Amino acid sequence: MDWLKGESPKEECGVIGLHTPGVEAARTAFFGLFALQHRGQESAGIAVSDGTVVRMHKDMGLVSQVFNESTLTELPGEMAIGHTRYSTTGASVLRNAQPIFCQSLVGEIAVAHNGNLINADELRAELEAEGEVFDSTSDSEVLARILVRNIGKGPEHAVAEVMRRVKGAYSCTVLMPNLLIGFRDPAGIRPLVVGKVGNGYVMASETCAFGPIGATTLQELAAGEMAIVDDKGLRIACGAQGTSHMCMFEFIYFARPDSHMHGELLYSVRERMGAALSREHPVEADVVIPVPDSGVPAALGYSKESGIPYREGMMKSRYIHRTFIAPDPRMREMGVRMKLTPLREHLEGKRVVLVDDSIVRGTTTRQIVKLLFESGAREVHVRITAPPIKHPCFYGIDMASKGELISAHLSIEELSAHVGATSLGFLSIPGAVASVGAADAGFCLACFNGEYPISVPESAKTGSTDVGQMAVS
Ligand code: SF4
Repeated sequence: MDWLKGESPKEECGVIGLHTPGVEAARTAFFGLFALQHRGQESAGIAVSDGTVVRMHKDMGLVSQVFNESTLTELPGEMAIGHTRYSTTGASVLRNAQPIFCQSLVGEIAVAHNGNLINADELRAELEAEGEVFDSTSDSEVLARILVRNIGKGPEHAVAEVMRRVKGAYSCTVLMPNLLIGFRDPAGIRPLVVGKVGNGYVMASETCAFGPIGATTLQELAAGEMAIVDDKGLRIACGAQGTSHMCMFEFIYFARPDSHMHGELLYSVRERMGAALSREHPVEADVVIPVPDSGVPAALGYSKESGIPYREGMMKSRYIHRTFIAPDPRMREMGVRMKLTPLREHLEGKRVVLVDDSIVRGTTTRQIVKLLFESGAREVHVRITAPPIKHPCFYGIDMASKGELISAHLSIEELSAHVGATSLGFLSIPGAVASVGAADAGFCLACFNGEYPISVPESAKTGSTDVGQMAVS
């Protein structure tokens, strides 16, 4: 389900790190970050090192709103990290913007973090008891402080120590005056990929950041792996024995369709998900339409597999962006109509298959189904490429509280009636896994099956915990 629908799961961050000998890194980081904008639209930041000093600029807003010629000029240096963030609470957005920056006895450190820590409070208390003084309330600073305390024994040791102590999801880029590090947690929940750019190196959440800066992919970091760039060049090391549990939602929705993960083009993965959906939930119909834009590859896959023609049934406004101007109540009531315009000529009298990526609360799906019927559709068969979401995410995705997850409370038949569909079908978990095409890869499927690869407190799993409030990075 696309971000425009307002109820979809929100990715929590995009990160980048690069070393570009002979080239100002901030400008390159800007363009890389720009390509990761879909991973977070509320704040952006870049930290650079000129070999001696780490400087930083960050603010609320889109990457293109936070940076301009003048801010980039004030960030000299050939090493940089960057971060783009989605956050959930207005008052704390700027305070929690990243990279986070800490002073320490051994030097300055900037950290960009994608994910969510499970034991940050516990670690903070332990560190404070050991005399550590924190600059912020950010979970990411906990991780940064552990790194800094151990960096004297070398980056490999420091990252291994982070992996030994910190529980949760974390794909990070870290900048010190003469050092760039990227690493993935031992469950490998969030992505991080390493590339080559000119005479230097880049690491980013997704390969879509590489194209605009002329970088090529070297390798995806494995779970528990780190990439270190210093005056000796690039080296990859193991920080902890890991077992991959990569977030299935990266494949279904979050990551850009032109990114590669597990070596697979995500556009093709989503086409295969649509084809599998057609096999699992066939229906007699006249036309297959996507919810634009995120449903397009899966709708094409459904169409090709079923032989039912594909057509666009709605146009999305190209100019709806996250804005700091809240819509007034009347506009909010208009809801989906502000964002999607039905193509009546493509819908009138038709039995429609509507393909989308997920249902979280169900509110927007209901609005879209209503819109299609009002535009003359005879039947609306909803087909969803994510299996039913029944459990909250604790690993950096602002999804909803368990109480709001409609599939946790209604059967598929009840949900079909609730959204007003003629029929409703979800891709199965095995269908989603098989569609990724990486036979030996491991995935996090916790929001579908409740099996959390990194243990979370029982009270949080069963209760009314508002995960939106928990998300920190
Ligand atoms: S719980 Fe769901 S959204 Fe969260 S990391 Fe796992 S698969 Fe991704």
